[in-house]
Amino acid sequence: MANLIDIKGVTHAYRTKSGLLPVLDNLNIAVPEGEFAAVVGPSGCGKSTLTRLVAGLMKPDQGEVWLHGERVTSPRKTVGMAFQNPVLLEWRSILENVILPLEIVAPRMPQQDREARAMHLLEMVGLKGFEGKRPSELSGGMRQRASLCRAIVHKPDVLIMDEPFGALDNFTREDLWQTMRDLRAAEPFTCVLITHDLRESVFLGDQVFVLSGRPARTQMVLDVDLPADRTLDILYQPKAQE
Ligand code: ADP
Ligand code: MG
Repeated sequence: MANLIDIKGVTHAYRTKSGLLPVLDNLNIAVPEGEFAAVVGPSGCGKSTLTRLVAGLMKPDQGEVWLHGERVTSPRKTVGMAFQNPVLLEWRSILENVILPLEIVAPRMPQQDREARAMHLLEMVGLKGFEGKRPSELSGGMRQRASLCRAIVHKPDVLIMDEPFGALDNFTREDLWQTMRDLRAAEPFTCVLITHDLRESVFLGDQVFVLSGRPARTQMVLDVDLPADRTLDILYQPKAQE
């Protein structure tokens, strides 16, 4: 199967006042279409740097990033992004925020269809009834739900998330993990999740790439062998080893 994302030999260093800061060393990450890749590593190991490189916001010193068989050298509309602190526009309602990418990517789509698409997603993430609220009227977890809807409303080829649940309390975070799985069960899309949380990476990922070291290397690649329809229970009721 062709890989939707191919990160090949990506090496990157920052040029700082005190010299060269090598951050990533020869990373290779391949994500087949429809799969969920989780990249896990400690704080400061270069995860956000990797996000920027994959999203085409920055060019690697060495190596290549490929998306759908095309080399990524600039940002693309076919990539959805979600971050730790969702940037929602306060002067727009939640519904108007979620619709935003459709206005840019599908300018000729009738407003009614845009709203229907956005409402479908908002309902799936449990935000029905909140569509008319302003972002500041929602909790952090709800804002992150809304920003997930916005990130996938235009059906991007891939959703890249940089520690999207990092600012949330444990309960809210785990609820969002489940929501994420429900969303993908209803509408499969390719995902790259960047996180420092190993449990999160295993619950959500099909494959887990473990980074560490300075500069960061891929130390391990785990194939997650858990049921596709797993629920949060699996985190609390581990199956006894026979
Ligand atoms: P992570 O997201 O895993 O916490 P980052 O990719 O943000 O890691 O940062 C990796 C390293 O690169 C850190 O040491 C950080 O200080 C440094 N760094 C990040 N961005 C820049 C930049 N724009 N210029 C110089 N150094 C940077
Ligand atoms: Mg980061």
